[in-house]
Amino acid sequence: MRIPDLLARTAGRTAISLEFFPPRTPAAVKTLQGTLEALAPLRPAFASVTYGAGGSTRDLTQKAVTELRQSDVFQPMPHLTCVGHTEAEIMSLLQAYARAGVGNILALRGDAPAEQNGNGDDFRQAADLVRFIRQFNERGLHPDPRGFGIGVACFPEGHPATPNRMIEMDHLKAKVDAGADFLITQAFFDNHDFHDFRARCELAGMQVPILAGILPLTTEAGMRRMAELAGGMRYPAGLIRGLRRAGGDAEMFRRIALHHATEQCADLLHHGVNGVHFYTLNQSAPVLEIHTRLGLAQHRSANGV
Ligand SMILES: Cc1cc2nc3c(=O)[nH]c(=O)nc-3n(C[C@H](O)[C@H](O)[C@H](O)COP(=O)(O)OP(=O)(O)OC[C@H]3O[C@@H](n4cnc5c(N)ncnc54)[C@H](O)[C@@H]3O)c2cc1C
Repeated sequence: MRIPDLLARTAGRTAISLEFFPPRTPAAVKTLQGTLEALAPLRPAFASVTYGAGGSTRDLTQKAVTELRQSDVFQPMPHLTCVGHTEAEIMSLLQAYARAGVGNILALRGDAPAEQNGNGDDFRQAADLVRFIRQFNERGLHPDPRGFGIGVACFPEGHPATPNRMIEMDHLKAKVDAGADFLITQAFFDNHDFHDFRARCELAGMQVPILAGILPLTTEAGMRRMAELAGGMRYPAGLIRGLRRAGGDAEMFRRIALHHATEQCADLLHHGVNGVHFYTLNQSAPVLEIHTRLGLAQHRSANGV
């Protein structure tokens, strides 16, 4: 099902979705299988699969998406980054996904490392990819006459490449005007950032659903890595103070971080957000525990809570 339709159907409730990365080794494949089995009873609205910018995981992403599609439990949404790709490469991926019955794409620019420039530069920004997918849809190349549902990324704390927040909103609006149906946020740890961002989107005239990205931290090393990868992720003082109390105790760290993520989710549900998108890092335990703590397991119905 197209995610925009699903979000319209669950309007007033909060859709839960999950993000995975494609496994590279047999051991990682096994871990992901276990994770998917454990998370299947949550009946997420969809499961997205990341894509290495420049095409570094092209085959792995496609394989993981096709397998999820065949399983019929998870509705997969591939991420697709356009940086370093030619139009012909993107076209062939879109055709393969359309043939496999994939209904949605998360259209991204990506940040290809310098040594991995790919084959071309037909696309400069994610908005170019959104336009390309929309044209694919308009040409009737997808079995569903409405074509792919199109998601795009957004950044409640701001994207590091555009310090001017007003201009950044113009760039985001350009993606929506080009055809994006919904937004998924970068992970954030202070809900004020999300609420303010959501209000700014509304003021800028963007009326598409916004799914809030939640990343349950599990280790201090992971916390540091995430801050680096995302280029400017901000951990609020309250969370840092709490985590310091763990004093090197790994289990305590995990519990405090999980409590924080649970509180974030409780607040987001209270505010009736369109969706909570969990960055699972291919682990099931944190998401399951948040579900249990919030009592969501008992209240799941038709992909929304
Ligand atoms: C939900 C989510 C999922 C992600 N999944 C992946 C993944 O699977 N693989 C991966 O490699 N990365 C992924 N990323 C990271 C993302 O690719 C990077 O953060 C990238 O830097 C921005 O991508 P974008 O799609 O937002 O790009 P864009 O929308 O193109 O924006 C990138 C920057 O360019 C600016 N900009 C936009 N248009 C213009 C213009 N016309 N002129 C000048 N500047 C402009 C924007 O303001 C922004 O600063 C993900 C991020 C999120 C939030």
